[in-house]
Amino acid sequence: MSGADAVKPKVAEVVDRIADDLERLSHRIHASPELAFKEERAHAWLTEFLEKHGARVERGVGGLATAFRATIPGTGAGPTIAIMAEYDALPGIGHACGHNVIATAGVGAGAALAALGTLPFAGRIQVIGTPAEEGGAGKVKLMDAGVFEGVDAAMMVHGRCGTQVWRPSLGIIKVKAEFFGQAAHASSWPWRGVNALNAVISLFNALDAMRQQIRPDARIHGVITKGGDQANIIPEYTSAEFYLRATTVAYCRELLRRFTLAAEGAAAATGCRAQVTADPTVHEPLKANPTMAEAFKRNLEYIDFPEDPDDGQAGYGSTDCGNVSQRLPTIHPYIRISPDGVPGHSREFAEWARSPLARAGMVAGAKALALTALDLLASPEALARARQDFTREGGNA
Ligand SMILES: [Zn+2]
Ligand SMILES: [Zn+2]
Repeated sequence: MSGADAVKPKVAEVVDRIADDLERLSHRIHASPELAFKEERAHAWLTEFLEKHGARVERGVGGLATAFRATIPGTGAGPTIAIMAEYDALPGIGHACGHNVIATAGVGAGAALAALGTLPFAGRIQVIGTPAEEGGAGKVKLMDAGVFEGVDAAMMVHGRCGTQVWRPSLGIIKVKAEFFGQAAHASSWPWRGVNALNAVISLFNALDAMRQQIRPDARIHGVITKGGDQANIIPEYTSAEFYLRATTVAYCRELLRRFTLAAEGAAAATGCRAQVTADPTVHEPLKANPTMAEAFKRNLEYIDFPEDPDDGQAGYGSTDCGNVSQRLPTIHPYIRISPDGVPGHSREFAEWARSPLARAGMVAGAKALALTALDLLASPEALARARQDFTREGGNA
């Protein structure tokens, strides 16, 4: 029995009452996908929605124009719980990560809590709009700018092909490899050229070989971003971008060490010069918080949207929420918005992100987020346990 139990039915009821509005908002965002840091329409619609429901909204927090922080009315002094909302899309394939569902679950939770009028216990609830999850590490920028200062616990939901409160995520080091060669006529003077395309192809081949000797849960994947200009010119410059992922940041660094040697080898083999540039922003793996996860799980059961067994058919992705989880107690549960086996970042998943299943997942997510925030504020002991989990859980960063 939590002190929040008396108000839980009302919160769930409000989410059901505003579900049509939330779904419309979700579809609107879905129909108008915006890339990292350019989520202007989503930002406008989400903040308007929160204001309409009484929240005090600060736009452009942390120096990011499309970020926001909304404070739920009737909440005040005491511990602060943040509900995070993502709303960026992917290049070319739109809302194939279902961030429209994350956003509307987050603001739906905020609106439902606002409807309580005044919280029956001390504390503050905020909805933090976090831009650029896909590739921009927006949450890291917001944390660096102090937006999460004073937040005691943070949570969000993410759509997937099953409901699982805990799934690990991988750390990432992003790295760029550039090769510098020499242009020459590809037919009349090929022996005078130094072929930077061969260098980048050699790097891919070296990495393909390296993959046999890395840990099975590590990932190395990349694209050639510049492969040359025209077939009759020996390419003088090429570049490629890679993600190096692993369950610990330490192993990501080991992958970077080996990657750098492979790039230098490819350059030596082709007579080029290599330049390897690692992105200073490292994505950290998610740190588990059993106390918060358990509360979220109980709330899913309470609303009759229980966890699914994990069929083990998928590997792990990464999230900038991992960095948040290494700074403060955080959960990042997954909620079903598609049938089993539909991969994220696919066109198929983008379709499911606007389906009746997505609506059900969004509604369940909004309820479970709101109820879990209430549990944490209603029970100082629960929040203290979440803090202990945070301190105790071995940091894998
Ligand atoms: Zn994604
Ligand atoms: Zn995502």
